[in-house]
Amino acid sequence: MAAAIEESSREIIQAVIEKQKQFFKEGKTKPLDVRKQTLEKLADVVKNHEKEILHALKQDLNKSEMETYATEIGILLEEIRFTLKHIDEWAAPVKVKTAKTHVGSKAYKVPEPYGAALIIAPWNYPLQLAISPIIGAIASGNTAVIKPSELTPHTSNLIADIVHSHFDPEYIKVVEGGVDTTRHLLEQPFDYIFFTGSVPVGKVIMEAAAKQLIPVTLELGGKSPCIVDKTANIALAAKRIAFGKVTNAGQTCVAPDYLFVYKEVKEEFIEEFQKAVHDFYGKNPLTNDTFGKIVNERHFNRLTGYLQDGEILTGGRVDHASLKIEPTLMVPNDDSVPVMQDEIFGPIFPVMEFEVLDEVIEFINDRPKPLALYLFTSDDDVADKVNSSVSYGGGCVNDTLMHLATPYLPFGGVGESGIGNYHGESSFSTFSHYKSILKQTTKFDFSFRYPNSKFGLKIL
Ligand code: NAD
Repeated sequence: MAAAIEESSREIIQAVIEKQKQFFKEGKTKPLDVRKQTLEKLADVVKNHEKEILHALKQDLNKSEMETYATEIGILLEEIRFTLKHIDEWAAPVKVKTAKTHVGSKAYKVPEPYGAALIIAPWNYPLQLAISPIIGAIASGNTAVIKPSELTPHTSNLIADIVHSHFDPEYIKVVEGGVDTTRHLLEQPFDYIFFTGSVPVGKVIMEAAAKQLIPVTLELGGKSPCIVDKTANIALAAKRIAFGKVTNAGQTCVAPDYLFVYKEVKEEFIEEFQKAVHDFYGKNPLTNDTFGKIVNERHFNRLTGYLQDGEILTGGRVDHASLKIEPTLMVPNDDSVPVMQDEIFGPIFPVMEFEVLDEVIEFINDRPKPLALYLFTSDDDVADKVNSSVSYGGGCVNDTLMHLATPYLPFGGVGESGIGNYHGESSFSTFSHYKSILKQTTKFDFSFRYPNSKFGLKIL
Protein backbone atom coordinates (compact mmCIF):
# COMPACT_ATOMS: atom_id res chain seq x y z
CA MET A 1 0.00 0.00 0.00
CA ALA A 2 1.32 3.45 -0.89
CA ALA A 3 2.38 5.46 2.15
CA ALA A 4 0.03 8.27 3.03
CA ILE A 5 1.51 11.61 2.13
CA GLU A 6 3.27 13.56 4.83
CA GLU A 7 1.46 16.32 6.65
CA SER A 8 4.09 18.79 5.42
CA SER A 9 3.40 17.81 1.77
CA ARG A 10 -0.31 18.30 2.38
CA GLU A 11 0.35 21.78 3.68
CA ILE A 12 2.58 22.56 0.70
CA ILE A 13 -0.14 21.41 -1.71
CA GLN A 14 -2.78 23.49 0.06
CA ALA A 15 -0.53 26.55 -0.03
CA VAL A 16 0.11 26.08 -3.76
CA ILE A 17 -3.60 26.03 -4.59
CA GLU A 18 -4.31 29.03 -2.39
CA LYS A 19 -1.55 30.98 -4.10
CA GLN A 20 -2.71 29.95 -7.57
CA LYS A 21 -6.27 31.01 -6.75
CA GLN A 22 -5.01 34.37 -5.47
CA PHE A 23 -2.82 34.83 -8.57
CA PHE A 24 -5.86 34.16 -10.74
CA LYS A 25 -8.10 36.46 -8.68
CA GLU A 26 -5.64 39.28 -9.18
CA GLY A 27 -6.20 38.86 -12.93
CA LYS A 28 -2.57 38.01 -13.63
CA THR A 29 -3.29 35.13 -16.04
CA LYS A 30 -5.93 36.91 -18.07
CA PRO A 31 -4.17 39.42 -20.35
CA LEU A 32 -3.75 37.90 -23.79
CA ASP A 33 -0.16 39.10 -23.96
CA VAL A 34 0.69 37.16 -20.79
CA ARG A 35 -0.92 34.01 -22.16
CA LYS A 36 0.96 34.33 -25.45
CA GLN A 37 4.30 35.02 -23.77
CA THR A 38 3.79 32.02 -21.49
CA LEU A 39 3.04 29.75 -24.44
CA GLU A 40 6.06 31.07 -26.36
CA LYS A 41 8.18 30.43 -23.29
CA LEU A 42 6.76 26.92 -22.98
CA ALA A 43 7.75 26.17 -26.59
CA ASP A 44 11.27 27.50 -25.91
CA VAL A 45 11.55 25.44 -22.73
CA VAL A 46 10.56 22.26 -24.60
CA LYS A 47 13.03 23.02 -27.41
CA ASN A 48 15.86 23.94 -25.06
CA HIS A 49 15.44 20.77 -23.02
CA GLU A 50 15.09 18.45 -25.99
CA LYS A 51 18.16 16.39 -25.06
CA GLU A 52 16.98 15.77 -21.48
CA ILE A 53 13.49 14.90 -22.75
CA LEU A 54 14.88 12.35 -25.23
CA HIS A 55 17.00 10.86 -22.44
CA ALA A 56 14.16 10.64 -19.90
CA LEU A 57 11.82 8.92 -22.36
CA LYS A 58 14.54 6.50 -23.38
CA GLN A 59 14.95 5.54 -19.72
CA ASP A 60 11.25 5.30 -18.91
CA LEU A 61 9.91 3.63 -22.06
CA ASN A 62 12.92 2.97 -24.32
CA LYS A 63 11.37 5.43 -26.77
CA SER A 64 13.57 6.05 -29.79
CA GLU A 65 14.54 9.65 -30.58
CA MET A 66 12.38 9.60 -33.70
CA GLU A 67 9.34 8.37 -31.77
CA THR A 68 9.83 10.84 -28.91
CA TYR A 69 10.11 13.65 -31.39
CA ALA A 70 7.03 12.55 -33.38
CA THR A 71 4.75 11.63 -30.48
CA GLU A 72 5.82 13.93 -27.65
CA ILE A 73 7.94 16.96 -28.58
CA GLY A 74 6.67 17.56 -32.13
CA ILE A 75 3.00 17.29 -31.14
CA LEU A 76 3.49 19.83 -28.33
CA LEU A 77 5.35 22.33 -30.49
CA GLU A 78 2.71 22.08 -33.22
CA GLU A 79 -0.10 22.51 -30.66
CA ILE A 80 1.56 25.65 -29.26
CA ARG A 81 2.20 27.06 -32.76
CA PHE A 82 -1.42 26.45 -33.76
CA THR A 83 -2.75 27.95 -30.52
CA LEU A 84 -0.63 31.10 -30.86
CA LYS A 85 -1.86 31.51 -34.44
CA HIS A 86 -5.53 31.34 -33.43
CA ILE A 87 -5.68 32.60 -29.86
CA ASP A 88 -6.87 36.13 -30.74
CA GLU A 89 -9.79 34.73 -32.68
CA TRP A 90 -10.70 32.11 -30.03
CA ALA A 91 -10.49 34.57 -27.12
CA ALA A 92 -12.65 37.25 -28.78
CA PRO A 93 -16.30 37.59 -27.73
CA VAL A 94 -18.59 35.99 -30.29
CA LYS A 95 -21.58 38.05 -31.36
CA VAL A 96 -24.72 35.93 -31.82
CA LYS A 97 -28.23 36.65 -33.11
CA THR A 98 -31.02 37.56 -30.72
CA ALA A 99 -34.62 36.40 -30.80
CA LYS A 100 -37.44 38.57 -32.21
CA THR A 101 -38.65 39.10 -28.65
CA HIS A 102 -35.27 40.72 -27.90
CA VAL A 103 -35.39 43.32 -30.65
CA GLY A 104 -32.95 46.17 -30.02
CA SER A 105 -30.54 44.07 -27.98
CA LYS A 106 -27.16 42.54 -28.82
CA ALA A 107 -25.90 39.19 -27.56
CA TYR A 108 -22.43 37.79 -27.03
CA LYS A 109 -20.71 34.62 -25.89
CA VAL A 110 -17.63 35.66 -23.96
CA PRO A 111 -15.00 33.04 -23.08
CA GLU A 112 -13.61 33.35 -19.57
CA PRO A 113 -11.13 31.09 -17.75
CA TYR A 114 -12.37 28.84 -14.95
CA GLY A 115 -9.50 29.63 -12.55
CA ALA A 116 -7.12 27.02 -11.13
CA ALA A 117 -6.94 23.87 -13.26
CA LEU A 118 -5.67 20.47 -12.14
CA ILE A 119 -4.15 18.24 -14.82
CA ILE A 120 -3.58 14.58 -13.98
CA ALA A 121 -1.51 12.65 -16.52
CA PRO A 122 -0.82 8.97 -17.32
CA TRP A 123 2.53 7.33 -18.06
CA ASN A 124 2.26 6.25 -21.69
CA TYR A 125 3.03 9.62 -23.32
CA PRO A 126 4.26 11.10 -20.06
CA LEU A 127 5.44 14.43 -21.43
CA GLN A 128 2.85 15.07 -24.11
CA LEU A 129 -0.15 14.17 -21.96
CA ALA A 130 1.04 16.30 -19.03
CA ILE A 131 1.91 19.37 -21.10
CA SER A 132 -0.65 19.34 -23.92
CA PRO A 133 -3.60 20.11 -21.60
CA ILE A 134 -1.74 23.04 -20.03
CA ILE A 135 -1.47 24.64 -23.47
CA GLY A 136 -5.27 24.91 -23.42
CA ALA A 137 -5.36 25.89 -19.75
CA ILE A 138 -2.85 28.73 -20.24
CA ALA A 139 -4.33 29.88 -23.57
CA SER A 140 -7.72 30.25 -21.88
CA GLY A 141 -6.25 32.20 -18.95
CA ASN A 142 -6.13 29.62 -16.14
CA THR A 143 -3.40 28.64 -13.71
CA ALA A 144 -2.34 24.98 -13.72
CA VAL A 145 -1.16 22.25 -11.38
CA ILE A 146 0.25 19.23 -13.19
CA LYS A 147 0.34 15.77 -11.58
CA PRO A 148 2.51 13.59 -13.85
CA SER A 149 2.52 9.80 -13.59
CA GLU A 150 4.67 8.19 -10.93
CA LEU A 151 5.24 5.19 -13.23
CA THR A 152 7.55 7.18 -15.51
CA PRO A 153 9.74 8.81 -12.85
CA HIS A 154 12.49 10.18 -15.12
CA THR A 155 9.99 12.13 -17.19
CA SER A 156 8.01 13.17 -14.10
CA ASN A 157 11.18 14.55 -12.44
CA LEU A 158 12.21 16.30 -15.61
CA ILE A 159 8.79 17.95 -16.05
CA ALA A 160 8.98 19.17 -12.43
CA ASP A 161 12.53 20.48 -12.88
CA ILE A 162 11.92 22.36 -16.09
CA VAL A 163 8.55 23.79 -15.08
CA HIS A 164 9.85 24.94 -11.69
CA SER A 165 12.94 26.55 -13.12
CA HIS A 166 11.06 28.52 -15.78
CA PHE A 167 7.59 29.32 -14.43
CA ASP A 168 6.16 31.01 -11.38
CA PRO A 169 4.59 28.30 -9.12
CA GLU A 170 1.60 30.59 -8.61
CA TYR A 171 0.98 30.18 -12.33
CA ILE A 172 2.19 26.66 -13.24
CA LYS A 173 3.26 24.10 -10.66
CA VAL A 174 4.09 20.39 -10.81
CA VAL A 175 3.12 18.14 -7.91
CA GLU A 176 4.76 14.72 -8.20
CA GLY A 177 3.43 11.62 -6.48
CA GLY A 178 1.15 8.63 -6.68
CA VAL A 179 -2.37 7.76 -5.64
CA ASP A 180 -2.31 9.42 -2.21
CA THR A 181 -0.96 12.67 -3.59
CA THR A 182 -3.64 12.64 -6.28
CA ARG A 183 -6.33 11.96 -3.68
CA HIS A 184 -5.16 14.94 -1.67
CA LEU A 185 -5.09 17.13 -4.77
CA LEU A 186 -8.66 16.05 -5.49
CA GLU A 187 -9.76 17.46 -2.12
CA GLN A 188 -8.57 20.93 -3.08
CA PRO A 189 -10.96 23.57 -4.43
CA PHE A 190 -9.81 23.49 -8.06
CA ASP A 191 -12.00 25.13 -10.67
CA TYR A 192 -11.40 22.50 -13.36
CA ILE A 193 -10.02 18.96 -13.46
CA PHE A 194 -8.56 17.49 -16.63
CA PHE A 195 -7.78 13.79 -16.25
CA THR A 196 -6.14 11.40 -18.68
CA GLY A 197 -5.98 7.76 -17.61
CA SER A 198 -7.90 4.55 -17.18
CA VAL A 199 -11.67 4.07 -16.99
CA PRO A 200 -11.70 2.86 -13.32
CA VAL A 201 -9.60 5.81 -12.13
CA GLY A 202 -11.70 8.16 -14.26
CA LYS A 203 -14.68 7.11 -12.13
CA VAL A 204 -12.71 7.90 -8.94
CA ILE A 205 -11.85 11.34 -10.33
CA MET A 206 -15.42 12.12 -11.30
CA GLU A 207 -16.73 11.05 -7.92
CA ALA A 208 -14.20 13.26 -6.13
CA ALA A 209 -14.97 16.19 -8.45
CA ALA A 210 -18.71 15.76 -7.86
CA LYS A 211 -18.24 16.47 -4.15
CA GLN A 212 -17.23 20.03 -5.01
CA LEU A 213 -19.13 20.24 -8.33
CA ILE A 214 -15.88 20.77 -10.20
CA PRO A 215 -16.27 20.37 -13.98
CA VAL A 216 -14.15 17.61 -15.50
CA THR A 217 -12.73 16.39 -18.74
CA LEU A 218 -12.01 12.66 -18.70
CA GLU A 219 -9.74 11.33 -21.42
CA LEU A 220 -10.03 7.59 -20.86
CA GLY A 221 -9.29 4.35 -22.67
CA GLY A 222 -10.85 1.02 -23.55
CA LYS A 223 -10.78 -1.42 -26.43
CA SER A 224 -10.53 0.25 -29.86
CA PRO A 225 -11.60 -2.07 -32.69
CA CYS A 226 -10.06 -2.28 -36.11
CA ILE A 227 -11.84 -3.67 -39.19
CA VAL A 228 -10.24 -4.76 -42.47
CA ASP A 229 -12.79 -5.14 -45.22
CA LYS A 230 -12.26 -7.28 -48.33
CA THR A 231 -11.93 -4.16 -50.50
CA ALA A 232 -9.01 -2.75 -48.48
CA ASN A 233 -5.50 -2.38 -49.82
CA ILE A 234 -4.26 -5.20 -47.58
CA ALA A 235 -0.52 -4.47 -47.66
CA LEU A 236 -1.09 -0.80 -46.82
CA ALA A 237 -3.69 -1.66 -44.18
CA ALA A 238 -1.34 -4.15 -42.50
CA LYS A 239 1.51 -1.61 -42.49
CA ARG A 240 -0.61 1.19 -41.02
CA ILE A 241 -2.17 -1.11 -38.43
CA ALA A 242 1.26 -2.45 -37.46
CA PHE A 243 2.40 1.18 -37.08
CA GLY A 244 -0.54 1.82 -34.71
CA LYS A 245 0.22 -1.32 -32.71
CA VAL A 246 4.01 -0.99 -32.40
CA THR A 247 4.18 2.74 -31.67
CA ASN A 248 5.22 2.97 -28.01
CA ALA A 249 5.01 -0.86 -28.01
CA GLY A 250 1.22 -0.64 -28.26
CA GLN A 251 0.96 1.43 -25.06
CA THR A 252 -1.23 4.02 -26.72
CA CYS A 253 -4.78 4.86 -25.63
CA VAL A 254 -5.93 4.80 -29.26
CA ALA A 255 -3.87 1.79 -30.38
CA PRO A 256 -5.94 -0.69 -32.40
CA ASP A 257 -6.88 -3.18 -29.68
CA TYR A 258 -8.36 -6.08 -31.66
CA LEU A 259 -9.01 -6.86 -35.32
CA PHE A 260 -11.87 -8.13 -37.44
CA VAL A 261 -10.50 -9.08 -40.84
CA TYR A 262 -12.57 -10.37 -43.76
CA LYS A 263 -12.12 -14.16 -43.96
CA GLU A 264 -10.74 -14.29 -47.52
CA VAL A 265 -8.02 -11.70 -46.91
CA LYS A 266 -6.98 -12.92 -43.46
CA GLU A 267 -3.91 -14.94 -44.57
CA GLU A 268 -2.67 -12.10 -46.77
CA PHE A 269 -3.14 -9.67 -43.87
CA ILE A 270 -1.15 -11.85 -41.46
CA GLU A 271 1.72 -12.13 -43.95
CA GLU A 272 1.76 -8.40 -44.65
CA PHE A 273 1.56 -7.53 -40.94
CA GLN A 274 4.59 -9.68 -40.21
CA LYS A 275 6.43 -8.20 -43.19
CA ALA A 276 5.70 -4.67 -41.93
CA VAL A 277 7.01 -5.50 -38.44
CA HIS A 278 10.18 -6.96 -39.94
CA ASP A 279 10.60 -3.89 -42.17
CA PHE A 280 10.31 -1.66 -39.10
CA TYR A 281 12.49 -3.60 -36.64
CA GLY A 282 14.17 -6.53 -38.44
CA LYS A 283 13.54 -10.24 -37.87
CA ASN A 284 13.90 -9.94 -34.10
CA PRO A 285 12.26 -6.76 -32.77
CA LEU A 286 13.29 -7.75 -29.22
CA THR A 287 16.92 -6.97 -30.01
CA ASN A 288 16.19 -3.77 -31.91
CA ASP A 289 17.03 -0.80 -29.71
CA THR A 290 14.38 1.43 -31.32
CA PHE A 291 11.50 -0.85 -30.28
CA GLY A 292 9.80 0.33 -27.07
CA LYS A 293 9.67 -1.58 -23.80
CA ILE A 294 6.75 -2.26 -21.51
CA VAL A 295 6.61 0.33 -18.75
CA ASN A 296 7.16 -2.04 -15.80
CA GLU A 297 7.17 -5.65 -14.68
CA ARG A 298 3.55 -5.62 -13.54
CA HIS A 299 2.34 -4.62 -16.99
CA PHE A 300 4.85 -7.01 -18.64
CA ASN A 301 3.44 -9.92 -16.62
CA ARG A 302 -0.14 -8.85 -17.35
CA LEU A 303 0.62 -8.77 -21.08
CA THR A 304 2.54 -12.05 -21.27
CA GLY A 305 -0.43 -13.64 -19.49
CA TYR A 306 -2.59 -12.76 -22.52
CA LEU A 307 -0.39 -14.97 -24.71
CA GLN A 308 -2.13 -17.97 -23.07
CA ASP A 309 -5.55 -16.74 -24.27
CA GLY A 310 -5.39 -18.20 -27.76
CA GLU A 311 -3.31 -19.43 -30.68
CA ILE A 312 -0.25 -17.37 -31.60
CA LEU A 313 -0.11 -16.62 -35.34
CA THR A 314 3.04 -14.50 -35.53
CA GLY A 315 5.48 -13.16 -32.93
CA GLY A 316 4.96 -14.29 -29.35
CA ARG A 317 8.57 -13.99 -28.15
CA VAL A 318 9.24 -12.02 -24.98
CA ASP A 319 12.33 -10.81 -23.12
CA HIS A 320 11.85 -10.41 -19.41
CA ALA A 321 15.21 -8.68 -18.84
CA SER A 322 14.43 -5.80 -21.23
CA LEU A 323 10.63 -5.92 -20.64
CA LYS A 324 10.02 -6.31 -24.37
CA ILE A 325 7.25 -8.23 -26.11
CA GLU A 326 7.38 -9.01 -29.80
CA PRO A 327 4.50 -7.62 -31.89
CA THR A 328 2.14 -10.60 -31.82
CA LEU A 329 -0.94 -11.66 -33.75
CA MET A 330 -3.11 -14.23 -32.02
CA VAL A 331 -6.52 -15.85 -32.44
CA PRO A 332 -8.32 -15.59 -29.09
CA ASN A 333 -9.99 -18.76 -27.78
CA ASP A 334 -13.26 -16.85 -27.48
CA ASP A 335 -14.40 -13.39 -26.51
CA SER A 336 -14.54 -14.16 -22.79
CA VAL A 337 -10.75 -14.53 -22.34
CA PRO A 338 -8.88 -11.62 -20.67
CA VAL A 339 -7.21 -10.48 -23.90
CA MET A 340 -10.71 -9.86 -25.29
CA GLN A 341 -12.03 -8.31 -22.06
CA ASP A 342 -9.26 -5.95 -20.90
CA GLU A 343 -7.76 -2.98 -22.69
CA ILE A 344 -4.57 -4.66 -24.00
CA PHE A 345 -2.21 -1.65 -24.00
CA GLY A 346 0.70 -3.58 -25.47
CA PRO A 347 1.93 -5.08 -28.78
CA ILE A 348 -0.46 -8.06 -28.72
CA PHE A 349 -3.20 -8.08 -31.34
CA PRO A 350 -6.14 -10.54 -31.31
CA VAL A 351 -7.41 -11.32 -34.79
CA MET A 352 -10.91 -12.54 -35.62
CA GLU A 353 -12.30 -13.22 -39.08
CA PHE A 354 -15.70 -12.16 -40.39
CA GLU A 355 -17.93 -12.53 -43.44
CA VAL A 356 -20.93 -10.43 -42.40
CA LEU A 357 -20.23 -6.80 -41.56
CA ASP A 358 -23.47 -6.48 -39.55
CA GLU A 359 -22.16 -9.08 -37.10
CA VAL A 360 -18.99 -7.03 -36.55
CA ILE A 361 -21.08 -3.91 -35.95
CA GLU A 362 -23.24 -5.81 -33.49
CA PHE A 363 -20.17 -7.14 -31.66
CA ILE A 364 -18.78 -3.61 -31.23
CA ASN A 365 -22.14 -2.11 -30.28
CA ASP A 366 -22.64 -4.76 -27.59
CA ARG A 367 -19.58 -3.37 -25.77
CA PRO A 368 -18.68 0.02 -24.23
CA LYS A 369 -18.31 2.80 -26.80
CA PRO A 370 -14.68 2.75 -27.99
CA LEU A 371 -12.22 5.64 -27.84
CA ALA A 372 -11.16 4.92 -31.43
CA LEU A 373 -12.25 2.84 -34.38
CA TYR A 374 -10.21 2.08 -37.49
CA LEU A 375 -11.77 0.88 -40.71
CA PHE A 376 -9.81 -0.20 -43.77
CA THR A 377 -11.88 -0.25 -46.94
CA SER A 378 -12.07 1.25 -50.39
CA ASP A 379 -15.85 1.03 -50.40
CA ASP A 380 -17.52 4.30 -49.32
CA ASP A 381 -20.78 2.48 -48.56
CA VAL A 382 -18.97 0.27 -46.04
CA ALA A 383 -17.38 3.35 -44.45
CA ASP A 384 -20.76 5.12 -44.27
CA LYS A 385 -22.41 2.05 -42.79
CA VAL A 386 -19.83 1.58 -40.03
CA ASN A 387 -19.58 5.26 -39.22
CA SER A 388 -23.32 5.74 -39.07
CA SER A 389 -23.99 2.67 -36.94
CA VAL A 390 -21.16 2.72 -34.38
CA SER A 391 -20.58 5.43 -31.79
CA TYR A 392 -16.93 6.01 -30.92
CA GLY A 393 -14.67 8.89 -29.83
CA GLY A 394 -12.78 9.36 -33.08
CA GLY A 395 -10.81 7.35 -35.57
CA CYS A 396 -9.66 6.89 -39.14
CA VAL A 397 -10.71 5.31 -42.37
CA ASN A 398 -7.61 3.65 -43.87
CA ASP A 399 -5.21 4.72 -41.12
CA THR A 400 -4.54 4.42 -37.39
CA LEU A 401 -3.63 7.00 -34.69
CA MET A 402 -3.32 9.94 -37.11
CA HIS A 403 -6.64 11.56 -36.18
CA LEU A 404 -5.16 12.59 -32.84
CA ALA A 405 -2.17 14.30 -34.39
CA THR A 406 -4.06 17.15 -36.04
CA PRO A 407 -5.11 20.24 -34.06
CA TYR A 408 -8.08 20.68 -36.42
CA LEU A 409 -9.92 17.68 -34.93
CA PRO A 410 -11.26 17.54 -31.34
CA PHE A 411 -9.89 14.53 -29.50
CA GLY A 412 -11.84 12.67 -26.83
CA GLY A 413 -14.01 9.69 -26.02
CA VAL A 414 -17.70 8.98 -25.66
CA GLY A 415 -19.52 6.86 -23.09
CA GLU A 416 -16.98 4.86 -21.08
CA SER A 417 -14.08 6.10 -23.21
CA GLY A 418 -14.37 9.65 -21.93
CA ILE A 419 -16.15 12.93 -21.38
CA GLY A 420 -15.18 16.09 -23.26
CA ASN A 421 -12.37 16.66 -25.72
CA TYR A 422 -9.32 18.80 -26.47
CA HIS A 423 -6.63 19.70 -29.05
CA GLY A 424 -6.65 22.95 -31.02
CA GLU A 425 -9.71 25.10 -30.47
CA SER A 426 -11.30 22.37 -28.33
CA SER A 427 -8.50 22.79 -25.77
CA PHE A 428 -9.31 26.47 -25.57
CA SER A 429 -13.04 25.86 -25.19
CA THR A 430 -12.52 23.01 -22.70
CA PHE A 431 -10.76 25.33 -20.28
CA SER A 432 -13.18 28.24 -20.89
CA HIS A 433 -16.60 29.00 -19.56
CA TYR A 434 -18.66 30.76 -22.24
CA LYS A 435 -20.47 33.53 -20.47
CA SER A 436 -23.71 34.58 -22.20
CA ILE A 437 -24.25 38.34 -22.15
CA LEU A 438 -27.27 40.17 -23.48
CA LYS A 439 -26.78 43.92 -23.94
CA GLN A 440 -30.24 45.50 -23.92
CA THR A 441 -31.18 48.73 -25.65
CA THR A 442 -32.16 51.75 -23.56
CA LYS A 443 -33.55 53.57 -26.61
CA PHE A 444 -37.03 52.04 -26.33
CA ASP A 445 -39.01 49.78 -24.00
CA PHE A 446 -41.92 47.39 -24.56
CA SER A 447 -44.54 47.77 -21.86
CA PHE A 448 -46.17 44.32 -22.39
CA ARG A 449 -43.35 42.51 -20.60
CA TYR A 450 -44.28 44.13 -17.29
CA PRO A 451 -47.04 42.79 -15.00
CA ASN A 452 -50.53 44.15 -15.69
CA SER A 453 -49.31 46.41 -18.50
CA LYS A 454 -50.96 47.03 -21.88
CA PHE A 455 -49.23 46.40 -25.18
CA GLY A 456 -47.17 49.43 -26.13
CA LEU A 457 -43.80 50.74 -27.13
CA LYS A 458 -42.22 53.63 -25.31
CA ILE A 459 -39.44 55.54 -27.05
CA LEU A 460 -36.94 56.66 -24.40
P1 NAD B 1 -4.23 5.40 -14.45
O1 NAD B 1 -5.68 5.71 -14.50
O2 NAD B 1 -3.78 4.24 -13.66
O3 NAD B 1 -3.41 6.67 -13.89
C1 NAD B 1 -3.57 7.97 -14.40
C2 NAD B 1 -3.22 8.98 -13.31
O4 NAD B 1 -4.10 8.81 -12.21
C3 NAD B 1 -1.80 8.86 -12.78
O5 NAD B 1 -1.26 10.16 -12.63
C4 NAD B 1 -1.99 8.17 -11.43
O6 NAD B 1 -1.06 8.59 -10.46
C5 NAD B 1 -3.39 8.61 -11.00
N1 NAD B 1 -4.09 7.57 -10.24
C6 NAD B 1 -3.98 6.22 -10.37
N2 NAD B 1 -4.82 5.58 -9.53
C7 NAD B 1 -5.47 6.55 -8.83
C8 NAD B 1 -6.47 6.54 -7.80
N3 NAD B 1 -6.96 5.41 -7.34
N4 NAD B 1 -6.92 7.72 -7.34
C9 NAD B 1 -6.44 8.89 -7.82
N5 NAD B 1 -5.49 8.95 -8.79
C10 NAD B 1 -5.01 7.81 -9.30
O7 NAD B 1 -3.78 5.29 -15.98
P2 NAD B 1 -2.36 4.92 -16.54
O8 NAD B 1 -2.09 3.48 -16.25
O9 NAD B 1 -1.35 5.93 -16.13
O10 NAD B 1 -2.60 5.12 -18.11
C11 NAD B 1 -3.16 4.13 -18.92
C12 NAD B 1 -4.63 4.38 -19.18
O11 NAD B 1 -4.81 5.70 -19.62
C13 NAD B 1 -5.18 3.51 -20.28
O12 NAD B 1 -6.47 3.08 -19.93
C14 NAD B 1 -5.24 4.43 -21.48
O13 NAD B 1 -6.18 4.07 -22.46
C15 NAD B 1 -5.57 5.72 -20.82
N6 NAD B 1 -5.13 6.84 -21.66
C16 NAD B 1 -6.07 7.63 -22.25
C17 NAD B 1 -5.66 8.65 -23.08
C18 NAD B 1 -6.65 9.55 -23.77
O14 NAD B 1 -6.23 10.59 -24.26
N7 NAD B 1 -7.92 9.19 -23.84
C19 NAD B 1 -4.30 8.89 -23.28
C20 NAD B 1 -3.39 8.06 -22.64
C21 NAD B 1 -3.80 7.04 -21.82
